[in-house]
Amino acid sequence: MAKILLTSGPTRQYLDPVRYLTNGSSGVMGSALAQAALQAGHQVVLVSGPVRVRYPSGVKLLEVETTQEMLEACLAEFPTCDGLIGAAAPCDYQPATVAASKLKKTGEPLLLKLIETPDIVATLGRKKRPGQWTVGFALESEDARFQAIGKLQRKHCDLVVVNGVGAINSPHNEIEILNPAGNVVLAAAGTKQKLAKQILRVVAEQLLEPRLKPAFSAPTKRSRKS
Ligand code: C5P
Repeated sequence: MAKILLTSGPTRQYLDPVRYLTNGSSGVMGSALAQAALQAGHQVVLVSGPVRVRYPSGVKLLEVETTQEMLEACLAEFPTCDGLIGAAAPCDYQPATVAASKLKKTGEPLLLKLIETPDIVATLGRKKRPGQWTVGFALESEDARFQAIGKLQRKHCDLVVVNGVGAINSPHNEIEILNPAGNVVLAAAGTKQKLAKQILRVVAEQLLEPRLKPAFSAPTKRSRKS
């Protein structure tokens, strides 16, 4: 059984002490993946942004707000984990500066300068030690497979789960799982709970079981020449 690091939910990037940028990620897929992983007998370290969804009590839950905090929690946990499933929707941009006090209205347009946040899946993908694996998610509205394979390569993933845009704020999802050769190893639709179980099964077949097989098998008594 494996120890799996899982990211879930959105992150927040503050403009000032009370305002922030975020997105509509609910954490439902992350929660379903955590449940499915526990049911399959794995240990789960779950790093989550702010969500309403309840996570199963069997996980080690680390709550964070910003993409940088999510990255730092993941960097601290990844070395003791077998792999990462990046189901979070971290904000890709953050304000270049965070005002120390609440921004006041001036009657003029307010221009925000945004800079990129670190990419958690890509950072951990670059840090994989032999045997470790990473699974990314990709939500694509067009050329889904092509875009997702590019993402898998750029982020050094071992598998990528392609979501339909209908996944947002929905109990259902439609997915394809692609391997680095671009092959579809699973295509499925259904509730996020059902799909989470299928994703965990593919992770076991494609990533966990091959790593358990010994590099060579010792000759059995029968095959040994006397
Ligand atoms: O590039 P895009 O955001 O579509 O990639 C989605 C994948 O990358 C997801 O697995 C998501 O968790 C991960 N991601 C990340 N850090 C970011 C942005 C996305 O780990 N800053």
